[in-house]
Amino acid sequence: MTARVVLATRNVGKIAEVRRILASYDVELVGLDAYPELADVVEDGESFTDNARLKARVVAQQTGLVAVADDSGLTVDSLNGMPGILSARWSGRHGDDAANLALVLAQIADLPDSRRGAAFVCAAAAVAPDDREVVVEEAVVGTLLREPRGSNGFGYDPIFVPAGETRTTAEMSAAEKDAISHRGKAFRALASRLAELL
Ligand code: IMP
Repeated sequence: MTARVVLATRNVGKIAEVRRILASYDVELVGLDAYPELADVVEDGESFTDNARLKARVVAQQTGLVAVADDSGLTVDSLNGMPGILSARWSGRHGDDAANLALVLAQIADLPDSRRGAAFVCAAAAVAPDDREVVVEEAVVGTLLREPRGSNGFGYDPIFVPAGETRTTAEMSAAEKDAISHRGKAFRALASRLAELL
């Protein structure tokens, strides 16, 4: 039987992306756009997994369905793992991708290639209304360029080159990125364990 789960985001791009990643699994995903009356969850956890779990738990309680949520970001080795959970607001303006990217580039401008390591990290959580949960975290490691390249993707994609690649994730197709990305890996890992909650 197809399981109905609610994805705890109003971001239509993310809903489409997760639907694409989960296309081969027996899951019907509804986004929070189907629940306009629900207030946004404040993401005040200490880690990606805290935030993913927090969002999924609140939405499971509110909807009575198994809820799935993710939290993701860029961790830069030479910045002690920052921007991390602050990736979306690193420049001080939430969701200003261009300013966030420009600030990270400026912060690591003087660093040699050997110190430009970074990773995209994604935690994905599924929580049932009775509080049972599955939480996973996955990453894709790589290095950061000095100049942006490519126009696909979003956020820090134009400066991130995955290990073993020559292109940035902004130069890959959506399908190529899904196959190796932190979010692709995390949602596939979560999907394979969703049955535990249904
Ligand atoms: P969220 O998990 O949707 O809140 O994403 C947090 C932030 O991390 C985004 O606003 C981006 O700045 C960054 N980020 C997360 N995943 C990616 C990615 O796949 N490419 C580029 N930036 C990302």
